[in-house]
Amino acid sequence: MSSAGPSATGRISATDRISVKASTFSESVIRGMTRLAREHDAVNLAQGFPDFPCPPELKQAAKAALDDDVNQYAITWGAADFRRAVADKVARTYPGWVIDPEREICVTCGSTEAMIATMLALVDPGDEVIVFEPFYENYGPDAILSGATPVYVQLRAPDWSFDEAELRAAFSPRTRAIVVNTPHNPTGKVFSRAELDVIAALCVQHDVLVVTDEIYEHIHYLGDGGHVPPATVPGLEDRTVTINALSKTYAVTGWRVGWTIAPPALTDAIRKVHDFLTVGAPAPLQAAGVAAMALPASYYVDMAAKYRERRDVLCPALAEVGFVFEPPDGAYYVLCQTGALDPAQDDVAFARRLVAGVGVAGVPGSSFYSDPSRGRGQIRFAFPKKIETLYAAAERLRSL
Ligand code: PLP
Repeated sequence: MSSAGPSATGRISATDRISVKASTFSESVIRGMTRLAREHDAVNLAQGFPDFPCPPELKQAAKAALDDDVNQYAITWGAADFRRAVADKVARTYPGWVIDPEREICVTCGSTEAMIATMLALVDPGDEVIVFEPFYENYGPDAILSGATPVYVQLRAPDWSFDEAELRAAFSPRTRAIVVNTPHNPTGKVFSRAELDVIAALCVQHDVLVVTDEIYEHIHYLGDGGHVPPATVPGLEDRTVTINALSKTYAVTGWRVGWTIAPPALTDAIRKVHDFLTVGAPAPLQAAGVAAMALPASYYVDMAAKYRERRDVLCPALAEVGFVFEPPDGAYYVLCQTGALDPAQDDVAFARRLVAGVGVAGVPGSSFYSDPSRGRGQIRFAFPKKIETLYAAAERLRSL
């Protein structure tokens, strides 16, 4: 609360009612760009959600769950069969990684809730949380809502690598956790095993937790073994909270089903916070999640191939009109330098012009940085779209 208190009329002004925490960050720019895209009937390459259907197996299982009257609260930390299915799928995908579904999984409302529940459960006011930037825009507010201070470490174009010395300097006696998002939004970087080894050594040395966001686990263009889950890196087994969701892998961002995987003591704390935040994730959609986890390995190979095709339609179109970027190794975003296309280097005005004048929505680069000036010359485009949507976007972009 502001110290101003009630005015002469004896009433508290609306802004005085807003908490310091909520005043510290602004509304999501990504979701805001989606609204603007709707207003201008623009092709929405801003927010990362698919415009194509989810696998039929998921729809059938969701319908069957509703027909079976799976209508009431599931166990607060997740339906037992869904947790078992998640643990089985992890064991199939990463042999040797064994999870106890009874004690090490908490099912949440998407990875968004998983991240805030984890921070609220494991981070104290006064702590520091290391976040690589550019970043997915939730991590800063999540840290702030937990009373912690985000400490940013730069990923630098063109390959979005980090400087080991800069990372080492970011660790302090107050560092409680580091957030690792791999494959990474917005850069498309996939953290290599060597990079994860560097992070692991520092986390062990400083006794720091790793909170990973692996929502793009299966969306990368590196082939087998391309994605390394940090929890499988020596030293990190007992200090990692792995966050994932149905949202991206199965094209169901509106279902709101995610989960955390963590050692039992950490999971206990996350489950408690999660219970008071949301009670539980949608029960019939957890039932459908069992069907998702049962999809064969070929589903993931096909999905990655289709995303590669989408990437290979959008990237040449962006390059043709003058955007400068490295094609992403993972996730479904391209973070571009606008260069000569935006001589003023004013990303917000440029993105608005693009929506209103050209009919394509992207996300201004500044929204991915703590210091907006770092992203002024950047814009992010998302490509989880039908090929024809991407061709339509390419056609419109040519008018640039
Ligand atoms: N994490 C990252 C890195 C994302 O890019 C997104 C969505 O774009 C989310 C989390 C949100 O995930 P969910 O829909 O499961 O809450």
